[in-house]
Amino acid sequence: MWFLLFGNKVYYDHLGYIINKCPECGQSAPFYVEQERKKLTIFFLPTFRYSSKQSMTCTGCRQRFDVAKDLKPQIAEKLMTKDEVTSVIQQRRRDELAGMPRCPGCQAQVTADMAYCPGCGRKLTGEA
Ligand SMILES: [Zn+2]
Ligand SMILES: [Zn+2]
Repeated sequence: MWFLLFGNKVYYDHLGYIINKCPECGQSAPFYVEQERKKLTIFFLPTFRYSSKQSMTCTGCRQRFDVAKDLKPQIAEKLMTKDEVTSVIQQRRRDELAGMPRCPGCQAQVTADMAYCPGCGRKLTGEA
């Protein structure tokens, strides 16, 4: 008696990362981009592929999104390696920090509405 075993095997190829605003959590976060390949298996042997869906997963909230077919070229252009994504995020943090005012006395971070530095008590307003 013959059993023909048909099945689906799903492969995920990791393509890279993109940074995008997440519709789910609202963060501008790195997304993990994957290519899904489904293969029809007969007798456990993958035969041909019949799906090439792409998905991206928000690394902030773990929500997974399907990538629309016409968005694939745009995503391909923006793809980054993990190292690139890490350096973009670090650069962004540095920029954010650089945009914060600092106490000229002790370099503590202060906000514009503080009259005195919480670190060293130096008067912050009225200085040129
Ligand atoms: Zn998210
Ligand atoms: Zn200070």
